[in-house]
Order: sequence, then structure tokens, then C-alpha cells
Amino acid sequence: MKIYNTLTRRKEELKPITDNELRIYSCGPTVYNYAHIGNLRTYVFMDILRRVLKYNGFKLKHVMNITDVGHLVSDADEGEDKMMKTAKEQQKSPWEIAEYYTGVFFRDIAALNIEKPEIIAKATEHIDEMIEFVQGLVEKGYGYETSDGIYFDISKLPDYGKLSGIDLEGQMAGARVEVNDEKRHPADFALWKKAPKEHIMQWPSPWGMGYPGWHIECSAMGRKYLGDTFDIHTGGVDHIPVHHENEIAQSEALLGHPAVKYWMHGEFLLVDNGKMSKSLGNTYTIEDLKARGLNPLAFRYLCLNAHYRNKLNFTWDAIQSAQVSLDRLLEGALAHKNGTASVDAELIAKFRQDFEEAINDDLNIPRALGIVWNVVRYHEKSKDLFDLLVLMDSILGLNIDKVQPKEEKQEEIDPEIEELIRQRQQARKEKNWKLADEIRDKLKEMGILLKDTPEGVKWEKI
Ligand code: AMP
Ligand code: ZN
Repeated sequence: MKIYNTLTRRKEELKPITDNELRIYSCGPTVYNYAHIGNLRTYVFMDILRRVLKYNGFKLKHVMNITDVGHLVSDADEGEDKMMKTAKEQQKSPWEIAEYYTGVFFRDIAALNIEKPEIIAKATEHIDEMIEFVQGLVEKGYGYETSDGIYFDISKLPDYGKLSGIDLEGQMAGARVEVNDEKRHPADFALWKKAPKEHIMQWPSPWGMGYPGWHIECSAMGRKYLGDTFDIHTGGVDHIPVHHENEIAQSEALLGHPAVKYWMHGEFLLVDNGKMSKSLGNTYTIEDLKARGLNPLAFRYLCLNAHYRNKLNFTWDAIQSAQVSLDRLLEGALAHKNGTASVDAELIAKFRQDFEEAINDDLNIPRALGIVWNVVRYHEKSKDLFDLLVLMDSILGLNIDKVQPKEEKQEEIDPEIEELIRQRQQARKEKNWKLADEIRDKLKEMGILLKDTPEGVKWEKI
């Protein structure tokens, strides 16, 4: 399969570094607020990537971080720590803020059928690894100390900026007056920040009490779980010029070689063709969609209509029509489920081949979705075509396997419960009966009784 590599600016054949396993790192959320649908589009992209890789038989070791310290209001090391700012506003501790929004984030991604990466790494639980990384950089002469922290000296890396092709000198000429005049170069960035007394999140370090810079978090946690070189790194396009450029600088300075083989970036979601911002009141969340009677999966469906490297425009009209299309797609799938015709095996193989070509061509999901629709609309209704749709849905993630006639339709279920049911099914698949039973008991405590039937798992409220 081919994927587009931001670093080389071309589509490349995907070849794992070792055997059949792919090691992946995805920049995760900064948990100081609700994720908006723009953030969530980036995680839908991450999820589609996972699903396509698994479809191709790769084993995955995938890390996603939770940034619960160190991300300042400006990505370029200025302003307050985002966690601290919200904590002050809500009069809570930053840990309470992190715990609450992390919980909401996992509920949101479950509602969008986004699979959880194998490893979830919280920044605050990896401070030692970060300090060690910074120490290594200082020892090699890449870090220098100022009155407020340890900074990375980008002038020591001649190819700094290679991911974005940034023109640093040009940028400097037009730059605003530098806030921190102790920095040697305006693009030098904080590896470690010295904490003022009132800063709640702070840890001892060789440079006194402080907290890590945002970029070092990803470099240190990626290295811990995935080693000195790994296959794929993902994030949103806004991370290309600063965050990922700085991750590359840190890792290559310490290791003496690139850490990441393929860099992949998801394009932005626009709202009404413009930027999303708090001041415009258009940073919509999953709850906002639900409040308008929309199924979160209608948002997932909307995302599938655009290639991940193209901008996608969100409007309320667009999501309403995505909901209508999703309902029609499920109805069409149901007609095949109840179908009795037999369809030529060659036709099925051709649909499947076209679908696989699309997904393996740098995740061309819009093209793949077109093929799904051709299957749905196929005039003869056949159980074999339903099975094909279920297979294709292992990529789309639209719950085609759960489709039921309207009258039998089970009532709406809490995404958290749905996620537990999914985890139990996974445990059963892996013959982990103990875990499956534990999850069943937990659900019982939550008032949900499960029944394993020949048509799959059914549930009812006790
Ligand atoms: P943050 O929680 O701010 O670190 O952002 C989480 C992820 O959302 C990052 O990968 C960002 O690149 C991504 N992101 C932020 N805004 C948008 C947007 N409007 N559309 C798509 N992705 C976005
Ligand atoms: Zn990151």
C-alpha cells in the first residue's frame, strides 16, 4: 500500500522497519477543554489509518499521548500552560481538569467508533524520561540555559525546518518583536521550563523545579515505547511547522539519525469555510451534534467524504445530509442482509478489489465509499453482498454489522456501555474469558444485561 509522506512530499510504498509490525505515534489531545469536531476529524483520520493497516495484515504498536502539562497557550512557548489556565478559570486543580477532559475525550472517540491505540501515554507520568532526554541534549551541546528554562539551539542543526521547508531567515525578518530576548534564535524552543512558585505542576530536575516543554513530551514518550526508530507519526497539519519540526530536531540531535520514517498529517476541518474559534462560537463538540438530534456517526460519515489531505467544510446542512445518507446506506445494507438472490462471485471479487485499491492508495476513502455505495445500490439483494459490506465496514466503522429492521432496533445506548460491549467482544475473540466475564459483570452493575445470540450480542436494561 502507498501512503503520502509529508517529509518527502510524495506517496511512498509502505515498508515496515521490522517484520510485519508497524510502530506508530499519534499526537493526542491537550486535555484542557472539550475536543471540538476539528480535533476529532484528525482522530478519525488516525483511526482510518489504523483500520487500513490492520486490514492489510499489519500488526500495530500504536502510542497516543495525553498532554496534561506543558502545552502553552501559544505553540511557540509563550503564554500560560493551557492546563493551568483552565484550572484557574474553573477553580480546580490541573489534575482534576485533566482527568475530566480525558474521560470526555475517550467517550467522544468511542461515539465515533475511533479505536483506542494500544498504548495511551500521559505526559505527567513520563517526566523522568523527558528529563533524561533533555539532559542528553544538553550534554551533546544542543541545549542552553536561560533564566526561565532550557532551550534547544536550532542553529546547531543545519537541516532544521526540513519537514515544512520553512524559511527561517525570511520568517525572522518579518517576525514580531521577540518576547524572550535570552533566546539565541527566535525559533529556539523550550525543552524544559523553570516553574514559578505558584505553578502547581512542577517536578525536580537538574535545573531546579520545573515542567517539560510540549515538544519533548512526544519525543520522549515515542522513544520509550517505540524505540529509536519507528514507522509512522501522525498529527494535524498545524503541527507541521512547529511541533513536529521540533520533535524532529530533538530526536535527530540526540540520536544522530531520523526517528520517524513516514510523517502523515490530516488536513483541517473548516466551519462555514472559515476557521473554528471560540470567539466565533463555532467550536462544536459531539454534545452539540447530539443536541441537534444527530448521530455522532453522521460526523464520521461526513469525514469519510473528504480525503484526509483535503480540507473539509462543516456546515449544519452538510451534517444533516450526511445523516440522511448514512441512514440510507444502512437501509440499503439491511436490504442485502434480508436478500435471497445469489450474486456472481466474480462481481463480488471485483467490488472487493476496487475497494482495496482505493484504501491502499493513500487512504482514498471517498473513492472507497463510492464503491460501497455501488454495492449498496446493486439491484439484486444478496446476503453475500451484505457480508462484503460488513467487511468494507471494518474500514468505514459505520456499524453496518449492527443494522436491524426499524421495529427491532434497540434503543440508543450510552457510548461508554457500547465501548464496554465492544471490548468484551474483542476479549471473547481473543479467548480471554476472564476479562470477558469481568466486563459482563461490570455491565450488570451498570444495569445492562447481555445475551449472546446466534445473531450476535443483544443487550437489555435490567
Ligand atoms: P490539541 O488538543 O490542541 O493538541 O489538538 C489535537 C489535534 O487536533 C491535533 O492533532 C491538531 O492538529 C488537531 N486539530 C486542531 N484543530 C483542527 C481542525 N480545525 N481540523 C482538524 N484538526 C485539528
Ligand atoms: Zn506531539
